[in-house]
Amino acid sequence: LGHGGRDRTLSLHLAPYGVGQFLMVTRDITQIERLEHTRKDFVANVSHELRTPLTVLSGFVETLQDMGDALSDTQRDRYLDLMAQQARHMQALVSDLLTLSSLESTPNQEGGPVLVAALARTALAQAQALSDGQHAFDARLDEALRIRGQDTELASAVGNLLINAVRYTPAGGSITVVWESTPDGGAAYRVKDTGIGISPADIPRLTERFFRIDRSRSRATGGTGLGLAISKHVALRHDAVLDIQSTLGQGSVFSILFPPARVCPPGYKNKR
Ligand code: ADP
Repeated sequence: LGHGGRDRTLSLHLAPYGVGQFLMVTRDITQIERLEHTRKDFVANVSHELRTPLTVLSGFVETLQDMGDALSDTQRDRYLDLMAQQARHMQALVSDLLTLSSLESTPNQEGGPVLVAALARTALAQAQALSDGQHAFDARLDEALRIRGQDTELASAVGNLLINAVRYTPAGGSITVVWESTPDGGAAYRVKDTGIGISPADIPRLTERFFRIDRSRSRATGGTGLGLAISKHVALRHDAVLDIQSTLGQGSVFSILFPPARVCPPGYKNKR
C-alpha cells in the first residue's frame, strides 16, 4: 500500500460501484486504535487503583463487624485510622482524576496575569506541613514576575512538584524552590531536592498516568501516581515544558519552563 510502514492498521471497505465494479475505500485507523487502547488501559488502571483501597476498607469493616466486641480500644482505633487512610487515598485519587478530566475537557483559555510567587508560597506552606520539620526549605521567588495563565491549574502544578520533593527526599534533605526569569526572557519555576533521584531510564515514563518507580513508597506517602501527569498537562496548556533532571541517589530538579510570550511585561493589565 505504499506508505505507512509497519504496525499500522488499515480498514478496507468494498462497495458496489456501477455494474460489475467495486469501489475500495481504505482508511488508516492506527491513531483511532491507539487511542482506544490507551482509553481501555486507563479504565483498567483506574479500576485497579480504586479496588485496592476498597478491598482493604471492606476487609476492616468486616473485621470490626465480626469481632468488634473482642477488640481492644487501641486495636479498634488503629483499624479506624487505617480505614480513614484508605478513604483519604480514594478521595485524592478521585480529586486528581477530576482535575485531569477537566484539563482535558475545557478549552485552553488565554488567562490573566498570575503571580506564581504567591502560588509557590501557599504550596510551600503545605509542603512544610507535610515535611513536619524533617527537611530544610529554601525559597527564591521573584515577587514581581507574572505570567499569563490559569491560577488554579498552575497552583496544582506548582504544588505537585513541591509535595513530590518532600515525598521522595529522606529526612535531613533539603528542598529549594525558585521562581525566576530566564536569560531568553521566559520564566522558570524550579523545585530542587536532595532526594532519592531517578535513573535515566525512568525519567521519560514519569509523566505517564499511574507510573511509579516504587509503588509502595508512593502509596505510603499518599501518592496517586497522577501528579506529574497533571503537572505536564498544565505546563503544555501554558505553552511550557516540564523539564526533569535527576541523578540517582543524589536528587532531582523539576522545572516548568515558560516561553517569553507568556511573561507579562511590567505594568501589564488584565484584559478581561
Ligand atoms: P505519585 O503520586 O506516585 O508521587 P507522580 O505522578 O507525582 O505520582 O510521580 C510519579 C513517580 O515519579 C513517583 O511515584 C516517583 O517514583 C517519581 N518521582 C516524582 N517526583 C520525584 C522526586 N522529586 N524524586 C524522585 N522520584 C520522584
